[in-house]
Amino acid sequence: MGRKLLLLGPPGAGKGTQAQHIAKLLGIPHISTGDMLRQAVADETELGMQAKAIMEAGDLVPDDLVTALVIERLAQPDAACGYLLDGYPRNAAQADTLTDTYGDDVFDTAIAVDVESEELVRRILQRAEEQDRADDTEDVIRNRLNIYRADTEPLIGYYRDRDRLAEVDGVGSVDEVFGRIVEALR
Ligand code: ADP
Repeated sequence: MGRKLLLLGPPGAGKGTQAQHIAKLLGIPHISTGDMLRQAVADETELGMQAKAIMEAGDLVPDDLVTALVIERLAQPDAACGYLLDGYPRNAAQADTLTDTYGDDVFDTAIAVDVESEELVRRILQRAEEQDRADDTEDVIRNRLNIYRADTEPLIGYYRDRDRLAEVDGVGSVDEVFGRIVEALR
């Protein structure tokens, strides 16, 4: 049986990059709700059209829409032997839905990568400049961070209470942070 992992962390913490490395190392699918939603927007599906403006503002897409997407994805055969979930759950209601649907063993480990807020704003603004992503304005970034601190960060306590938590310092190079994650997964 492969690992069932959750990767938790603020926007700009480098979650996407770490998730790809972890998934490759362990041979499990990387399931990113951000990626799935961006694909839906690009494909102009019904869901994509509902999600587009919400995502551009940095707000959360309604729980029922994202939950349906995740439950469908977890039912795919490649997720039967483990997965790395990235971007879901993002609030207590979503976490409860997963626990109610699959039980506490929906994750064997929740990896929480943290970086302090001002460093995150610096990183995201720099990335926006390099990639010419005008959507990443400072207001949108701060909104995303505020939502993370208010709605998502409390999940660290949720998984600590369930004895599933591994905390990792997200400051350092990609390799350093990856090393810490691998260590925490032993
Ligand atoms: P980040 O840049 O914060 O890492 P993601 O790539 O994970 O963002 O997600 C991009 C956007 O997709 C979020 O800002 C949000 O609008 C939407 N989204 C992703 N996952 C969820 C979720 N579980 N619940 C609600 N909205 C979500």
